[in-house]
Amino acid sequence: MAQTRSPARTTTRRRHWLLVVGLTAALAVAAALGYWAGVSSAASQPPLVQSFSPAPSSPAPSSSASAAPPSKAPRTGRGSASGPAAGAVPDGVTVFDDEFPAVANLDPALLEALRRAAADAADDGVQFYVNSGWRSPEYQARLLREAIAKYGSKEEAARWVATPDTSPHVSGDAVDIGPSDATAWLSRHGAQYGLCQIYKNEPWHYELRAGAVERGCPRMYADPTQDPRMRQ
Ligand SMILES: [Zn+2]
Repeated sequence: MAQTRSPARTTTRRRHWLLVVGLTAALAVAAALGYWAGVSSAASQPPLVQSFSPAPSSPAPSSSASAAPPSKAPRTGRGSASGPAAGAVPDGVTVFDDEFPAVANLDPALLEALRRAAADAADDGVQFYVNSGWRSPEYQARLLREAIAKYGSKEEAARWVATPDTSPHVSGDAVDIGPSDATAWLSRHGAQYGLCQIYKNEPWHYELRAGAVERGCPRMYADPTQDPRMRQ
């Protein structure tokens, strides 16, 4: 017993020391938390954790015909495949914001029709935002690569994203409008301006159809894979 006393006492002392250190650390953490809580409320700032909350995730792939709009393209990249010069669109851009190439490079007749429609929609309390318009071929290629990664195959991606050679966005002939009250307005009134939804699965995607003012919009394709323009 005598032989074990000394090590036992040492262990006890060590335990006491650890307890003191632990308590000190706990107090320091508590003080820091209290301090931050005080700072947060005093400065009326949102809690720090909120700045780390992830962005809303993009909609999951869906086989339904009325899927949610695709996620917007990243806006932080550099180079010709992304960024506003390539046709990326920050939040809040309207059809009147022609400092953005996505808007300025649209076909002039399409842009003119969009502006007339947007002005009339504003009278109804509805605001059009451009989620996508003209895109550079490099940007379109990047979107297609991302869609293939997201949907798992070229075939499924083709239902949502065209190639640089076939996309009406690259030629400036298509615009993606949001939010849903704007597309609902366009679905009711767009034909009067020649603005038509082309694909059943893309209620946000509009193009100009010259005959629509007189005869209404042509029958929609189920999705872009049904569109003869995509078969090149
Ligand atoms: Zn589109």
